[in-house]
Amino acid sequence: MYETGCKCKEQTRFLKVEADFCADSIWCNNCQSNLDLSRLALSNKLKRELSEWALEFGKWLKLDTDELVSNAKELEDAHNVMGAILCEKVKEELGNSYMVFFTPSSLVRSYSQKLL
Ligand SMILES: [Zn+2]
Repeated sequence: MYETGCKCKEQTRFLKVEADFCADSIWCNNCQSNLDLSRLALSNKLKRELSEWALEFGKWLKLDTDELVSNAKELEDAHNVMGAILCEKVKEELGNSYMVFFTPSSLVRSYSQKLL
């Protein structure tokens, strides 16, 4: 196991940027472990941006009633646009040794389906 939290036998080259409740925003795309953002070779500025972005995740969901807010789609879309931008920044900072993918949030879609 690596200090980043990845559980792969060999250090992964595959990462993904994905926001989730109470998690850092970078994951191993191979073993799906949530990685310790502080241990990744990223600038403090980008780490801060990623953390702030992750904290915004799910703002379109009312956790107490488990309902979407009225402009949930807009909020989620904006969050996904920002996530894609941050993913590009992560790629830039980590360089060619990593493949970084972005997984957009689909909370709105899954909640809409649940209501049908
Ligand atoms: Zn891994």
